[in-house]
Amino acid sequence: MDSNEFRTAAHRLIDYTINYNDTIRDRRPMPEVEPGYMRPLLPSSAPETPDSFDEIMADVEKIIMPGMTHWNSPNFHAYYPLGSSYTSNLADILIGALNCVGFTWTSSPACTELEVIMMDWLAKLLGLPSHFLSSEEGPGGGVIQGTASEATIVAVLAAKERTLRRLDDNGSGTHNKHQNMHRLVSYTSEESHCNVVRSSLIASVLMRSLPVDDKFALRGSTLKDAIEQDLKDGLVPFAVVATLGTTQTCAFDNLQEISDVLSKHPDIWLHVDAAYAGAAYVCEEHRGTMKGIERADSFSFNPHKWLLVTFDCSAMWIRNTGEVVNAFMVDPLYFRPEHHMNKDAPDYRHWQMATSRKFRSLKLWFVMRLHGKRGLQEHIRRQIGLAKEFEELVRSDQRFEVVAPVTMGLVCIRLKVTDHGDLNDLNDRLHKQINATGAIHLLPSQSAGLSYIRVGVGSRFTESSDMIFAWKEIQKQATAVLMAAAEEQAEKLTKAE
Ligand SMILES: *Cc1c(COP(=O)(O)O)cnc(C)c1O
Repeated sequence: MDSNEFRTAAHRLIDYTINYNDTIRDRRPMPEVEPGYMRPLLPSSAPETPDSFDEIMADVEKIIMPGMTHWNSPNFHAYYPLGSSYTSNLADILIGALNCVGFTWTSSPACTELEVIMMDWLAKLLGLPSHFLSSEEGPGGGVIQGTASEATIVAVLAAKERTLRRLDDNGSGTHNKHQNMHRLVSYTSEESHCNVVRSSLIASVLMRSLPVDDKFALRGSTLKDAIEQDLKDGLVPFAVVATLGTTQTCAFDNLQEISDVLSKHPDIWLHVDAAYAGAAYVCEEHRGTMKGIERADSFSFNPHKWLLVTFDCSAMWIRNTGEVVNAFMVDPLYFRPEHHMNKDAPDYRHWQMATSRKFRSLKLWFVMRLHGKRGLQEHIRRQIGLAKEFEELVRSDQRFEVVAPVTMGLVCIRLKVTDHGDLNDLNDRLHKQINATGAIHLLPSQSAGLSYIRVGVGSRFTESSDMIFAWKEIQKQATAVLMAAAEEQAEKLTKAE
């Protein structure tokens, strides 16, 4: 493909992208295909001679689209949103064109330096404490990870390494990493994302899933009791992963209380996972849940969820970046105390699990510049407004209840009609029936034994009318499910008689 052919093809692809977005409501948000649907549609091996771009574009519609889940559709209410915007799409084109790998500063200086500065911009946009800024004195700084899961793993591994070194430095007499490892214990809440517990599996350490309060939040007293018990039992508490905006109900652990508890335990690493809700801190009025963040050793959130940045881009800040480097460097800094890191020119490969890395900061640069703080705030406020509107609709229907406080772009709802059999069953039937009809797509969840349905404001295109459409669909299916359940109940009664 030469330059001219590329120009023609690229124009077509851009037109296709625009048309896809403009007509996205016409597509079923979830595909109806079965596993293995694609194999019979494709040849069994690559073509001997080149296919044409026209043929490929025809196959996108014929073969790819029928199996697509349309995450950017306003009728897709599952999970949390996946960031998308034309501004980020533009950056993606440039990233592909420049095609560099930024594992060290030298491997592409602009790639590293823009990331350092963008992470400072982003930290200031969110109102994060200055100990996370590269521009400040001290060892703080930010890095873009692929996902929030990777950020959590990096934090837990760094915390573990720091603790094992400390235990050795204390002259515990064992000098035995393996023996000490078995005494390590970390904490999170039972509502935190499954990746958090997985991070402890990868780190081969114990992690306790602590119970939450009636708002699904981890409280300081619960953490305090657990730490004190473990200390009594001779264990070494070394890390806490708190969540701001849980995946299930968007609950916020009480960070202020957790930080207060940890003020007496300076050696415990506090990682804060705000994968979805962190984006809302661009709005000053939402920063209340962040109180206590000054104690955090690391913090991460996904611009690729709610801040209009396309996947992947997970922002992570670290109080003492040297501690991460120590955990991930084959030739750690502590063997070379003379090594001074130039904060404008880090070798980011030591801050992550992989070696190579993309020029992802271009997406942040484009998005922050082309929307401005104002534009990003408007996006967040608009989406929260839509969730609140939806909450009102739900509250106006006596058959439903709202399960958790609605503070962000997520509403968790549940049928509460008690005379139609088991409530959890009823709610499971409801979500299955809604998804089977396919007009909208949403996911069930369960907390504290309660089944409920999560309704997220998923797309940047979502309007008030889309939320009303979703609500009408839910109401319609609820009526059907309740009628069917009532009939079954009646039948059972007749039989019993
Ligand atoms: C979505 C989510 C994650 C996982 O994010 P990835 O980037 O996919 O790893 C982690 N924690 C919370 C609270 C989330 O909502």
